[in-house]
Amino acid sequence: MRYGLVAGPCSAESLEDLRLVACRLRSISAVCGKFEVWGLRAGAWKPRTRPGGFEGYGRSALAWLGAVRSEFSIPVCVEVGSARQVSAAYEYGLRDFWLGARTSGDPFAVDEIADALSHYDDLGRIYVKNPLSPDVGLWDGAFRRLERAGVGESHFVAVHRGFYPHGGARYRNAPRWDVALGFRADHPSVPFLCDPSHIAGRRGLVAPVAERALGYGFDGLFVEVHPDPRRALSDRSQQLSLGSFESFLDRLERFIGSLDAGGEDRGGLDRLRSQIDSVDEQLLELLSRRFEIVSEIGEWKRDHDRGIVSWSRRESHLRELVSYGESLGLDRGFILRLWDEVHAESLRYQEEVGSGGSFVIADAGCGYGCESSGDIGGLAE
Ligand code: PEP
Ligand code: MN
Repeated sequence: MRYGLVAGPCSAESLEDLRLVACRLRSISAVCGKFEVWGLRAGAWKPRTRPGGFEGYGRSALAWLGAVRSEFSIPVCVEVGSARQVSAAYEYGLRDFWLGARTSGDPFAVDEIADALSHYDDLGRIYVKNPLSPDVGLWDGAFRRLERAGVGESHFVAVHRGFYPHGGARYRNAPRWDVALGFRADHPSVPFLCDPSHIAGRRGLVAPVAERALGYGFDGLFVEVHPDPRRALSDRSQQLSLGSFESFLDRLERFIGSLDAGGEDRGGLDRLRSQIDSVDEQLLELLSRRFEIVSEIGEWKRDHDRGIVSWSRRESHLRELVSYGESLGLDRGFILRLWDEVHAESLRYQEEVGSGGSFVIADAGCGYGCESSGDIGGLAE
């Protein structure tokens, strides 16, 4: 099997830059056995969180993209967020489009774009990125809306670009492989690419994320490449230079070789294991976030001369956790054991930032010792 590859700058910034990337893609097509180039990507309109940043070169960018498409005879895809953008891109000869993460989660915008696309009978691929929130229903809904407007499934490609992260994570966007692979399992006939650039957020992480995706059985990659990322006008820190793109592909070719050699087909086991890996990572991320907050609490208590342990707070909090955990099907004893560990670690964090008065009791509460044995405030019968 050959993996699909879409690559190019975050934004189309000049014809010259686009030609350099297209030229590289053409040579990859010729020599790279493991990848099949599906197209060059570049944004003409950039959806920015706040106005005032670089918002793309619009029609000038479309003209460069159209020129590159004819000169190099490769598909060129551009992000569209409205019907007007679809018709403008069409005027310049573009036939491949992507719906970005801010658009795919907006049913009105998707309907409008779907209707605009349905007027053309020479469409290329339509890439739909996951919405910012890990809501697979919304992602699926975007495909259903395209279908309802008459855009055939043969044009569809799903792109996993990570989800809006909770703080403190390693990635710019949380990969949530469990969510993405769940979506994939429900849509086995839609080609599934990973955008490691927007997940990683920094160059050094793009290759490891891409390897992970290929290991999880994705069909290819949608990756940001810029001739000189240092002067890129958007997403500077995550774009690969042409040189690092080459080493990136070499590394992946070797990685794919090792996957192929490993060859044993374990059916759904690999998919389930990858989901577990992803959930375990999220557990660690949440714990790390918890201890960050605990340290802040420790500082507050130190500054306000409060003791570290509040037994009444601990008791009522744990009571609520046990009841919530049980409603989720977790074992009561397990929750208590786990919380013993988490709480002991929290005390350690607070002691570290504290004034040195360890295990100072802020209130008497139930009076159990801090080295509880899972029998806290009469919770464990
Ligand atoms: C992009 O691909 O440059 C982009 C804006 O992506 P996303 O919609 O995934 O943020
Ligand atoms: Mn980008």
